[in-house]
Amino acid sequence: MNIVWFKRDFRLEDHPPLWSAMQASVPLLLVAFVEPDLLRDPHYSTRHWRFVKDSVADINQRLAPFHQTLYLLEESPINFFEKLHQTQKISAVFSHEETGIGSTFQRDIDLKKWFVDQQIAWKEFQCNGVVRGKKNRQDWTKQWHAFMEASIQPIDLSRLPEKPLLSPDFFQNRFEIVDEDTGLVFQKGGETEAHNTMDSFFNERFWAYAKHISKPLLSRENCSRLSPYLAWGNVSIRQVFQRYLAERSDAKKRFQLDFFASRIHWHCHFIQKFEMEPRMEFETVNHGYKDLGRLNNEAWHEAVITGHTGFPLIDACIRCVTKTGYINFRMRAMLVSFYTHHLWLNWQPFAHWLAQQFLDFEPGIHYGQFQMQSAVTGINTVRIYNPIKQSQEHDADVAFILKWVPELAKLPAPLVHEPWQCSPMEEMLYDFQLGRDYPKPMVDIEQTGRHAREVLWQQLKDPKVKQDAARILKRHTNPGRKRMQ
Ligand SMILES: Cc1cc2nc3c(=O)[nH]c(=O)nc-3n(C[C@H](O)[C@H](O)[C@H](O)COP(=O)(O)OP(=O)(O)OC[C@H]3O[C@@H](n4cnc5c(N)ncnc54)[C@H](O)[C@@H]3O)c2cc1C
Repeated sequence: MNIVWFKRDFRLEDHPPLWSAMQASVPLLLVAFVEPDLLRDPHYSTRHWRFVKDSVADINQRLAPFHQTLYLLEESPINFFEKLHQTQKISAVFSHEETGIGSTFQRDIDLKKWFVDQQIAWKEFQCNGVVRGKKNRQDWTKQWHAFMEASIQPIDLSRLPEKPLLSPDFFQNRFEIVDEDTGLVFQKGGETEAHNTMDSFFNERFWAYAKHISKPLLSRENCSRLSPYLAWGNVSIRQVFQRYLAERSDAKKRFQLDFFASRIHWHCHFIQKFEMEPRMEFETVNHGYKDLGRLNNEAWHEAVITGHTGFPLIDACIRCVTKTGYINFRMRAMLVSFYTHHLWLNWQPFAHWLAQQFLDFEPGIHYGQFQMQSAVTGINTVRIYNPIKQSQEHDADVAFILKWVPELAKLPAPLVHEPWQCSPMEEMLYDFQLGRDYPKPMVDIEQTGRHAREVLWQQLKDPKVKQDAARILKRHTNPGRKRMQ
């Protein structure tokens, strides 16, 4: 038999591993895993597995008329393949390449060795615009365009080979999830939802994309919201890019759509970096930042992740992402800036916590962005966001803040941005007391901003930072790119 192993590519269209496996007329097993190691991993939470389960259910609905099934098993892939191999002949396993966290990378190394030992062919296919085995970015953009613009092989489900006749014992570890009503609201997984979201974006929502991209409330409507579908592969980045190309033939749409397309390019650019330097999950990409002296402070970490920092926009973002799995780019960057610059905390615990919250957790983008926003690359401009300024500029009418921090509802908008500015008279007037109704700010933002700026700008001049910045530029950026962009 042949096997297609679905790995963060939960779709039936633009799926080269599936298409290739279908060319042979031998029984075909479709399988995906929720791995016990990942169930315990600090990057993941139930919201991710629910999304996967919904994605598989959607696929199975489409497969039902063709008597095929995608099995979702709670099991480690190597256990499953070993068990199967004892009684069945596996000719080949087809999958996409995965640019994942350390533990999935190690799992793939172990499996590759096992497949070789057992003489099972493992046919891996390029995923996204990420090219495996590159040493630098020479020709990468050209390769990216070639991949994105290549024609998509249509998959005719009526030609799916039959599934192998296997004992039900192989499938006893079906993944189940106890779905209580938690009051949490997430985007629902599945190819159908992905296409609905893509249609609604390209048909209508994109018109205000550039205008609302940084607004915490309006970005929820006017950004594409494709990120979880791309992260879990309900739609391929190539399908999105080709839709963009088709839509941009209308000149009126070009400004918004080109703005959007640059993000599609960044998506792969960040994952490519991670593919080429996965150690950035564990340490600063620039060796010169190893001893920056950032702290671990559990009480402060707890204040941040429960949304009780005393900074209304920070608290609103934290509470919102906990409940919905999504906040926009600028708010993500601001949160990391607050945590690492203003609180001067190590980025790792927060990277884990936010990964658990983001329904769209994509290791390559997540770690690349964490490194950049916490200013440890040595090649990017240092950005220290002031959460009060962000609040006044991007949530001027405080609609977003009040949705998530209702305890400030008694105050007029200017004071919602800065509740510590309430005079004793205003506290009486609005029946509001700082420290009782809402926490006092954790830090003096002017002071902490100044400290971070001084240390980080000083660090940029460090010879070790400069030396490694040169290496990073050479390895991860287009030839000729300068420092500080
Ligand atoms: C600290 C931090 C962590 C992040 N972690 C993730 C993550 O785990 N997964 C993830 O998909 N994005 C991550 N991002 C990038 C970005 O915030 C999200 O991709 C975006 O907010 C998703 O919303 P959207 O789909 O509506 O985006 P749109 O603006 O509609 O963009 C379309 C697609 O382009 C890609 N994209 C958009 N912005 C970026 C960017 N700045 N860098 C790279 N790719 C981008 C995404 O795939 C996105 O779905 C992170 C950003 C920061 C600052």
